[in-house]
Amino acid sequence: MGCNPVFLFPTAIANIIVMDWNESVQSYFSIVVVNGGIPHQDRPRRCPHCGQEHQLLYRHGHFTRTVITLEETREIPIYQFYCPLPECGGTFGLIPDFVEKYHQVALDVKEEVIRQHDQGTSLAQIATQSDSLPCGPYSEKTLWRWTSIWRERLIQTSFYLWSWILTLLPHMELWSEQARRRSLWGGFFELWDRVQSKLRQYSDIRFVHILHRHVRSLELAVPVHDPKKDVHSCGSRLPSQ
Ligand SMILES: [Zn+2]
Repeated sequence: MGCNPVFLFPTAIANIIVMDWNESVQSYFSIVVVNGGIPHQDRPRRCPHCGQEHQLLYRHGHFTRTVITLEETREIPIYQFYCPLPECGGTFGLIPDFVEKYHQVALDVKEEVIRQHDQGTSLAQIATQSDSLPCGPYSEKTLWRWTSIWRERLIQTSFYLWSWILTLLPHMELWSEQARRRSLWGGFFELWDRVQSKLRQYSDIRFVHILHRHVRSLELAVPVHDPKKDVHSCGSRLPSQ
């Protein structure tokens, strides 16, 4: 992940905008794919290669990515953009927030594992039962990688998450007495439940999805697509997931 959280505030908080098309695979299809691309107002404004913001970035076709969610496995188009500056000419794809770049397993599957682990189920036990997860089973090592990476991201981003939630609900008591007794994950899951109960626009967005949005907030774009990195297939043959 290229973003150093030290530089996220306050830019990150200003950039955290709910975009309906970015909430789930379903909304991505019904809003983006049906219309043949990212809504004009949500197109990237800054070239991630050269940093320029004054020249409009052109559409540049798309490539296909397999995404595995709790409900389904689907091929989704990733729309690419092109920087018209002669000295740059960079191309990049706009990856939706519900999946990480170069990964097939969507964040809702990873959040499910994180929640089970946070509630006391060992990774070995989750791995044993993971053939019930989409495209499972997954090895204990894969699950350890998922939980470790996301725990580190949560730690690095927690201050910005708190700050952002306070901008949404200024009078909200962030850490309830019950949450104080729980783990960092448990506390945030409970906090997010309360945000969702008060603000309906967030009711369909999972917490790890919001966390990912914060981590990526400086730029949604990723470098030009490398087809060799999209060859993973389903299940245990996904070592880099
Ligand atoms: Zn450029």
